[in-house]
Amino acid sequence: MRAWIVEEQRPIAERPLRFVDLPAPVAEGTQVRIRVVACGLCRTDGHIAEGDLPLHRRPTIPGHQVVGVVDQVGAQVTMHQVGSRVGVAWIGGACGSCRECRSDRENYCPQFQGTGWHLAGGYAEYMAVEERYVYSLGDLAMEDAQAAPLMCPGTTGYAALRMAGVDRGDRLGLFGFGPTAFYVLRMARSLGVEVLVSTRGQARRELAVKEGASWAGSTDRDRIPDGLDAAIVFPAAGSLAERALAAVRPGGVVVSAAIAMPGFEIRDYRSNFWGRDFRTLYNVRPTDAQGVIRQARSIDLAMPVRVIQPEQVQEALQRVLAGDQPELATVVRWP
Ligand SMILES: [Zn+2]
Ligand SMILES: [Zn+2]
Repeated sequence: MRAWIVEEQRPIAERPLRFVDLPAPVAEGTQVRIRVVACGLCRTDGHIAEGDLPLHRRPTIPGHQVVGVVDQVGAQVTMHQVGSRVGVAWIGGACGSCRECRSDRENYCPQFQGTGWHLAGGYAEYMAVEERYVYSLGDLAMEDAQAAPLMCPGTTGYAALRMAGVDRGDRLGLFGFGPTAFYVLRMARSLGVEVLVSTRGQARRELAVKEGASWAGSTDRDRIPDGLDAAIVFPAAGSLAERALAAVRPGGVVVSAAIAMPGFEIRDYRSNFWGRDFRTLYNVRPTDAQGVIRQARSIDLAMPVRVIQPEQVQEALQRVLAGDQPELATVVRWP
């Protein structure tokens, strides 16, 4: 099979990915083998290629926003059948027996394994995945390339929105407006939640307003209105976390969806922190992936996507990391 691999981590400009031929994996035990049809490119893949995250296998095949078709099942598989249309997200393994795993909190399992990080991912024509971490897409009325980003930004957005705990009539602030925030906005609006967006790019602010945000301001120039019931911070910027805390009312919640964040200081405990809950999203659970798939069956979660050929992955990942593309998501389609 053709696959993009990382063997030596280095800056993306130095082309850390290589396009190679590898033997296709075989589904063993409780694994299913998936013929990958579409895989979204994620900033996290760039962190793995560049070395911001450690390499757990050599070579590593990145990719954790996968849509494909089951084409082989291990002898003990009970949940999926050959021919089923399925998705795979970031969580690809957990111990299954610790206290966290037994209470639907596998995202906190000390033996958490990431798809395309600890495990082979979707930058390849085939991948083998434990069946528990494979989600049925069945007749979901979305094209494969449109459905792929549901598996990472969608799943993350679903988890972040749940953590924010908002309800009809609440006001939710979003700091940053990338693909995850896009999904949050669509899902929050469908709940009857008012959404306010603070982000850098003019085009993204226009998109947020078009999508129903009641306010969209510049992170550099405008101050988001105070008294929010909750806020979600997407970029790895401590100053934004502090600002979000200040904008949320006592009793409100701030969720950080960033996987890295520089240290930040709470300079005014009484008016900027006291009474607020500060929560951080730490990986995702199978129930989050299932949750966003359920949402996509009832509300429109299609977003502007750039579809690329397999040969273009390296160049496209460079653009994803540089943030220089009009589309919110980039997806490789395997022919
Ligand atoms: Zn991702
Ligand atoms: Zn566990």
